[in-house]
Amino acid sequence: MSSTSVTSSTRTACSSCHRQPSPDEGAFQICSGCKSQSYCSSQCQRKSWRSGHKQECKVIALSTKAQAIAATHTGDSVEAVKLRCEKEGGGFRKISLEPNHIVFDGPLLQVPAIMGIPLVIHRVGTKSNNRADLDCRIATFLNVKYEDGFAPPQWQSHVGTCIVARKDKKPLSAEHVEAVWMYIDKLMDTFGEEGPQAAQKEISREHYEEWFERYRDSEAENGRDEWRNVGSIYNV
Ligand SMILES: [Zn+2]
Ligand SMILES: [Zn+2]
Repeated sequence: MSSTSVTSSTRTACSSCHRQPSPDEGAFQICSGCKSQSYCSSQCQRKSWRSGHKQECKVIALSTKAQAIAATHTGDSVEAVKLRCEKEGGGFRKISLEPNHIVFDGPLLQVPAIMGIPLVIHRVGTKSNNRADLDCRIATFLNVKYEDGFAPPQWQSHVGTCIVARKDKKPLSAEHVEAVWMYIDKLMDTFGEEGPQAAQKEISREHYEEWFERYRDSEAENGRDEWRNVGSIYNV
């Protein structure tokens, strides 16, 4: 994979063993995928890659790319999706956001990002005395971790209504949020039944695209006309 190669960089410590370069050694090499990690040796780089940088690298690189695209956004508003919590009736709502909305400053959702989809999420801060009112199952699913298929505790309950958008400020449709959610739902079955390794294999653009086409066609066949002409999220 090209991301494993390294290019020259400034003098920073090794991201893996944290060693500083000695004066006669010159600068360590940086990861060419994300340009955010330095390594003293190919051993350290391989170790880091295997212990999770392979995924992290994709997320960092996609985030950098999304920010560059967002910087070229010239529109008045950005098409995004509201995920309503139980108290507000659940489901999706198309919304239009100001281009400087706080959601765009957030980190990418990990599993979608590993599949090449730059989604960000923001809680609007729904208040209720009844905890169950604040359940927002779709938001919980979108936040599951690559490592184990579980969402962090802060995304499991008391979530409230959320806004989901693309960090690159390209339009995001409710159909695409639904599809990502349904794909993660399928992944969670794999996490539960076959374990993390089997599920992680399916967290890729290739697998998602293949599944998406089948999902779109079957939804359209089931009478959901809005699905008929939904294109790939990678071609927006
Ligand atoms: Zn090292
Ligand atoms: Zn990297």
